[in-house]
Amino acid sequence: MPIVIVRVGRRMIGEDTSLTEAEREYLADRIETLREEVFVGRLDERHFRELDRNEESREDWAEYVERMGERDFLGIAVPGEYNGAGGTYVETVLAEQAIGYAGTIVHACQASLTQHVGRTMYEHGNERIRESYLAPMLDGELVVSQAYTEPGSGTDLAHMETTAEREGDGWVIRGEKRFIDFAEYGDFYFLPARTSGADGDREGVSLFVVDADADGIELLENQSDWHGFRGTGAAWMAFDDVRVPEENLVGEEGAAWSYITAELNLEHLTVARYCLGASERALEIAANYTTEREVNERPVSRYQAVNHEVAEMATELDAAYLLNTRAARLLDEGGISAGRMEGAMAKWYGNDLAHEIADTCIQIVGGIGTTTSYPIERIQRDVRAGRFLGGASEVMKSIVQHDAYGVLDDESFEGDYVGNELEGLPWLGGRKRSAADDG
Ligand SMILES: Cc1cc2nc3c(=O)[nH]c(=O)nc-3n(C[C@H](O)[C@H](O)[C@H](O)COP(=O)(O)OP(=O)(O)OC[C@H]3O[C@@H](n4cnc5c(N)ncnc54)[C@H](O)[C@@H]3O)c2cc1C
Repeated sequence: MPIVIVRVGRRMIGEDTSLTEAEREYLADRIETLREEVFVGRLDERHFRELDRNEESREDWAEYVERMGERDFLGIAVPGEYNGAGGTYVETVLAEQAIGYAGTIVHACQASLTQHVGRTMYEHGNERIRESYLAPMLDGELVVSQAYTEPGSGTDLAHMETTAEREGDGWVIRGEKRFIDFAEYGDFYFLPARTSGADGDREGVSLFVVDADADGIELLENQSDWHGFRGTGAAWMAFDDVRVPEENLVGEEGAAWSYITAELNLEHLTVARYCLGASERALEIAANYTTEREVNERPVSRYQAVNHEVAEMATELDAAYLLNTRAARLLDEGGISAGRMEGAMAKWYGNDLAHEIADTCIQIVGGIGTTTSYPIERIQRDVRAGRFLGGASEVMKSIVQHDAYGVLDDESFEGDYVGNELEGLPWLGGRKRSAADDG
C-alpha cells in the first residue's frame, strides 16, 4: 500500500517510513485533538503568554491535566486498568512531540512526568499507590510533581542529602528539594530520599509518594522566574519532619536507584522529543516568514545562505526524530531499561539540536523573531533547559562513548600496529604503505 501523508499528519519533513501507518495516524490525531479540544477556551494562546509571564494559576493546571487525562495523553504506556492508555513507548514519544509542537514544552513536561513516573508507580507501586495515586493521576484528577533535585545535587543525584527514617509505622522525611516544577500546584510529590548507605551510594535510595498537604512542607522560594520554561510553579522546598505512611514507599526499601535509572531511560526520549516538536514549530514559522519577507526586493528564502540553513535544519530535525523513534522502539521491544546508548544518543543530539534550530530560526527571521509577535523567542528560551533537564548532554555523551567503545571493540585489533604502523597495516594485509596506495 502506498504511503500517503497529508500535511496535517506529516510531522516529519521527509516521510517517516520508520513509523507504521497507524502510528502516523496517531500523531496526526494527537495534534488535531490538542488543537481542537485541549488548547482552546481558557487554555488558548493567551494562556501560553500568561505562562511565560508566570501568571498561570492552579485552576489552569487542574483544567489542563483534566483535559489531558480525558483524552488519553497521560501514562500512555500504562495499562487501561489504572487509567493509562495501554499504548506503546513509540506512541508516548509521538504524543510528547505533538504537545511540544501544538502547546508549549511546559505542558509537554507535565504530561511527560505521568509517562515515566506513571510507569514506575505501575511497575513497583503497591496496590494502594496504584489505586489512590496512579489511577487518579492518569485520569487527570491529581497533579504530580517530581522532587529529585536538591541544592547540593542535581546531575549527581546519588549525593542527595534528603533522608527518610523509619519512625513508628511510617517514615519521616527531612531535607530540601530545588527547581521542582509544579511544586505549587502538585497534589503529591514523587520524591527520592536516602534510607541507608553513605553519601554517593546507589544502594540505599528509596522512593516515596508524599501528599502535598502533609505537615512540614514549606515552599521556600518560587523559582519560576527563570530563562524559559516559565509558569511551572517551580519551587525550592523544605521537608521538615514530614510524616509519610509505610504504604507510600514505592517498591523495595533502598532499591530505588534502578527504578530511577530505568525511568530516566524513558525521560531521555520524552524530553528530547517535546523539545524537537517545539523547534519544528519554530522552523515552520521561520520557513513561512522568510518566504513572505522581502529584503532588497527578494524573499529572504531566496538567499542561499538562508535556505541552506533551512535545508540543514530540516535534515537534522528528521535525523533526530528517527534516532528518537528507534530508541523508543527498543523500549517497546526490550522493556523500559533497554537501549541505553541509543536513548542517550537521541537525548543529547535531539536537545542540542532543538536549541540550535530555535536560535537559527530567530537569526533568519531577524528582529521580529526576538519579539513576542511570534513564539520563536519563547521556544528558544524554553528548549534551552532541555540540554541538561533529565540528563545533561555531557553525561549523555559519556554514556554513548562508554557503550560505543564496547560495541566498537575488535579483539583482532590487538595493538600490534598501534604506534608501529610502518611495520604494516591490517587493512593493507600487513604490508607497509607504499606510494602505489596513495596513487
Ligand atoms: C526549567 C527547569 C525545570 C526543572 N524541573 C525539575 C523538576 O521538576 N524536578 C527536579 O527534580 N528537578 C528539576 N530541574 C532541575 C534539573 O533536573 C537540574 O538542573 C539538572 O539535573 C542539572 O542539575 P544542576 O542544575 O544541579 O547542575 P549540576 O549537576 O551542578 O551540573 C552543572 C553542569 O555541569 C556539567 N556536568 C554535570 N555532570 C557532568 C558529568 N558527569 N560530565 C560532564 N559534565 C557534567 C553539565 O554541563 C551540567 O549542566 C529543573 C531545572 C530546570 C532548569
